[in-house]
Amino acid sequence: MRYSNLAKIYEELASTTKRLEKTEILSKFLHTIDDKNVIYLLLGNIYPEHEDKKIGISEQLVIKAISKSTGVSSEKVVQEWKKIGDLGEVAKALIKSKKQHTLSSHVLTTEKILDNLRKLPELEGKGTVDKKLSLITELLTSAEPTESKYIVRTLLEDLRIGIQQSTIRDAIAKAFFNTKESNVAIQKALDKSNDLGHVFEISKKGKLENLEKVSLEVGKPVKVMLAQKASDIPEGFEEVGKPCAIEYKYDGFRLVINKDKDKITLYTRRLENVTRQFPEAIEYVNKYVKGNSFILDSEAVGFDKETKKYMPFQAISQRIKRKYEIEKMKNELPIEINVFDILYYNGKSLLDEPFEKRTKLLKQIIKSTPYKIIPAKQIITDNLEKAEKFYKQALENNQEGVMMKNLNSPYNPGSRVGHMLKIKPSEKDFDLVIIGAEYGTGKRSGWLSSFDLGCGSGNGFLEVGKVSTGVKEKREEGVSYDEITKLLKPLIISEDGRNIKVRPKIVVTITYQEIQKSPKYSSGFALRFPRFTALRPDRNTEDIASLEDIENAYEKQGGK
Ligand code: AMP
Repeated sequence: MRYSNLAKIYEELASTTKRLEKTEILSKFLHTIDDKNVIYLLLGNIYPEHEDKKIGISEQLVIKAISKSTGVSSEKVVQEWKKIGDLGEVAKALIKSKKQHTLSSHVLTTEKILDNLRKLPELEGKGTVDKKLSLITELLTSAEPTESKYIVRTLLEDLRIGIQQSTIRDAIAKAFFNTKESNVAIQKALDKSNDLGHVFEISKKGKLENLEKVSLEVGKPVKVMLAQKASDIPEGFEEVGKPCAIEYKYDGFRLVINKDKDKITLYTRRLENVTRQFPEAIEYVNKYVKGNSFILDSEAVGFDKETKKYMPFQAISQRIKRKYEIEKMKNELPIEINVFDILYYNGKSLLDEPFEKRTKLLKQIIKSTPYKIIPAKQIITDNLEKAEKFYKQALENNQEGVMMKNLNSPYNPGSRVGHMLKIKPSEKDFDLVIIGAEYGTGKRSGWLSSFDLGCGSGNGFLEVGKVSTGVKEKREEGVSYDEITKLLKPLIISEDGRNIKVRPKIVVTITYQEIQKSPKYSSGFALRFPRFTALRPDRNTEDIASLEDIENAYEKQGGK
């Protein structure tokens, strides 16, 4: 397909904020596509979601490429960037003024774009930067102004056309089925495969039953099932029924373990491959879990190697991204794997089996080995007193609370379900994303020292306040200003004096005392006494609190 056709659609999509209009534009466009790869490009990606490959290009390199392909100096490109605040627009403007003098060279196709972009993450070793630069420059040199805007935005993984997977899902439903059930079937196929391109290909034939045949594949990451909240045990019983399973809610991070014969792969809930980071997990699975092939859902929790006490998530969070000194980390910050579900066993999907059967199987195949790998602590009861006692015990053991689970329910990948509930003592924390920051002064100059927090909404992120408290000056004391500054700097979109705006990538956990109404922030709410408690490298912006979550919490506290 000509890339200009796709660029035209990007422009149309960007020109409206109305979801229905976007769906309409997309559904018409879908009929013109033959190649599933165009679907990835529509999402601003070059691969399906389950592929753990990122383009990983810095703004600096893009600036160089714009400069090289237009003959304008890098300094001038930066100047324009500061003025306009979007390198995509900068490329468009500069290429436009150049094009008035020269005639366009080649016709760009989506195949050519993907061909070049897919080489970027593969390059390694000497001369990498130059090779990357020439791959990008080659594209920009052949690009029309509008094409260049979207090439640059794709490179920087920030398409800004307000499209999510769910928008394309709805468009696929509209284009090829036009029934209510099809939306559910498409979503289910997507949750199992994490490949919207594949789902598109199947849907194009217009047969719903083909979508239902899409099944789990061991080794490919799957979206986990998420829980809803209940305020206490009695409410939990009411929602999930009696008797039910009650388990510790471990304060760690989600780890999905895939075993396919000899090959073990570990994924976070963001579908990131963390196999290399946790060699001990591989050892434990090999030693203590029976079976040729399986997919286990678990929570990995840190514990103190001397006292053996469980530690909060923050203590081990650094292990998730760590690429070096893995062995040292493994000894310093050991984890215990608490397995609480199984999705697949020896060639068979268990998604539709009742939870009770799945949890029984877990106990049969795992040789429970504390501080290494165990089935999650669990009771099955209809007794309120026993349940409350178990809840108390979980808290005394430094865990966050309990999960209550209906015994007959299936495993629904990717859904937040009402048959699995979480109960924590005080729900006064949110996961939010950093959308901006301010440079500090005095002792903190050189560091970003105050962070603008955003919650999710259908259309981008809305501010809910700023946080500084809880971040440390010294690295030894916890997460420091220096560390967060280093994470945010490559994400800067624009600067205005001491204030910067960043791409929304860094998810953090924030505790607070109260929610207030506030006209100062775009969400209409502000958190009172916000405090930073953890970086969440295991979560992405789909996992953060939504405006609705904040409104609900505000209502719950009595609208004060
Ligand atoms: P939240 O992160 O507050 O939405 O709580 C749900 C999370 O608790 C899940 O995504 C898991 O990572 C974690 N969790 C800890 N223990 C369990 C358990 N026994 N069953 C299910 N999820 C658990």
